[in-house]
Amino acid sequence: MSKVLIIGAGGVGRVVTYKCAQVPEVFSQITLASRTKSKCDEIAIAIKDKYGTDIRTEQVDADEVPQLVDLINDVRPELVINVALPYQDLTIMDACLATKVHYLDTANYEPRDEAKFEYKWQWAYQDKFKAAGLTAVLGSGFDPGVTSVFTAYAAKHHFDEIHYLDIVDCNGGDHGKAFATNFNPEINIREVTQKGKFFENNEWIETEPHKIRKELSYPNIGSKSSYLIYHEELESLVKNYPTLKRARFWMTFGEEYLTHLRVIQNIGMAGIAPVMFEGKEIVPLQFLKAVLPDPGDLGEDYVGETSIGCRIRGIKDGAEKTYYIYNNCHHQEAYGETGAQGVSFTTGVPAMIGAMLVLTGKWTGQGVFNVEEFDPDPFLEALEKYGLPWHELHDVNLEMD
Ligand code: NDP
Repeated sequence: MSKVLIIGAGGVGRVVTYKCAQVPEVFSQITLASRTKSKCDEIAIAIKDKYGTDIRTEQVDADEVPQLVDLINDVRPELVINVALPYQDLTIMDACLATKVHYLDTANYEPRDEAKFEYKWQWAYQDKFKAAGLTAVLGSGFDPGVTSVFTAYAAKHHFDEIHYLDIVDCNGGDHGKAFATNFNPEINIREVTQKGKFFENNEWIETEPHKIRKELSYPNIGSKSSYLIYHEELESLVKNYPTLKRARFWMTFGEEYLTHLRVIQNIGMAGIAPVMFEGKEIVPLQFLKAVLPDPGDLGEDYVGETSIGCRIRGIKDGAEKTYYIYNNCHHQEAYGETGAQGVSFTTGVPAMIGAMLVLTGKWTGQGVFNVEEFDPDPFLEALEKYGLPWHELHDVNLEMD
């Protein structure tokens, strides 16, 4: 029985809170804190109605370490689940160290003034967490998160060596809007407009954004244009699986989405450098976020499903083999259960599971860990149980070249 503090009351925070409330034998007391307390209250009321669970709510500015320290000292959780924005990762880690509390997040730290996805800032906390006897779990969402654990599971059970990895992320859903992002627009647009990058023969190869495209076929969805982009779990997977000869990440985008994205970039609205507007500094991308649909409101009309998985080629008992492990998630089912669409759902469920495994002593260790460094078996067992069933295909055409 453990107390948990969830920081961030967006789409993902909503799902994590619902999911923790479904496991009272582990999460004996849940506190949800965020910048805007009314958003926490709205989630707490919905959960009280549905499960009868009391969720404590608090206001916090997670950019401010002293505020976080005061909150953590007041709540006294065993673990903090950070589902605010990547900008807050380091302040929340600092506050966890100051108060001797375990830490878990779903996205790696990014400096506000540069769209750069690297683990170096958080890996630099390794010695501090180790010395404090605490566990920091990085990237316990879907990708990173489930994709990383899928890779660990494949390496543990199905291969002697993994050589080629393609992570494939398809959103085959339709939210009915001309343009919207599935999670925080600022973070999402920073991610998808950066250059593509993949790992091959011990080096990183950079490509122009959306330059490499392939038609890939997704279970129950069919063929979709998939683009090579850089995604943060590639960095840790390449480090933790040194037998990898190549690692890539593919994401599907529709023509309509890409056309809007091009226009947004061409007119400067994806900019992250401040500009003067009517005597006040504003960041174009932050202004754009204010006028785009809130990803949290997309759920009601969202139809279709996501399909995200890992396609792996390697060696088992001296012979080459191929393997595909994936989950499909229906937006409407996610919405029916939690009031959030599938992308928030697929991130929030693994965040709860990672937290549960730390709190129940199934994932232990002192220091900073990416999720693939832990035992994948209890994670995948819980994934099935808590709403994200997964499937395996052996010796199939992976559409890799
Ligand atoms: P949202 O923008 O919907 O929610 C973020 C929440 O954090 C908001 O409630 C926001 O408050 C709050 N917040 C922002 N800044 C602060 C602050 N300084 N102090 C306190 N609270 C703050 O984002 P999502 O829920 O879509 O995403 C949450 C996280 O999950 C992000 O880090 C995202 O990158 C990650 N993610 C990971 C995925 C994965 O598979 N690994 C996939 C999708 C998302 P307010 O309401 O006031 O704005």
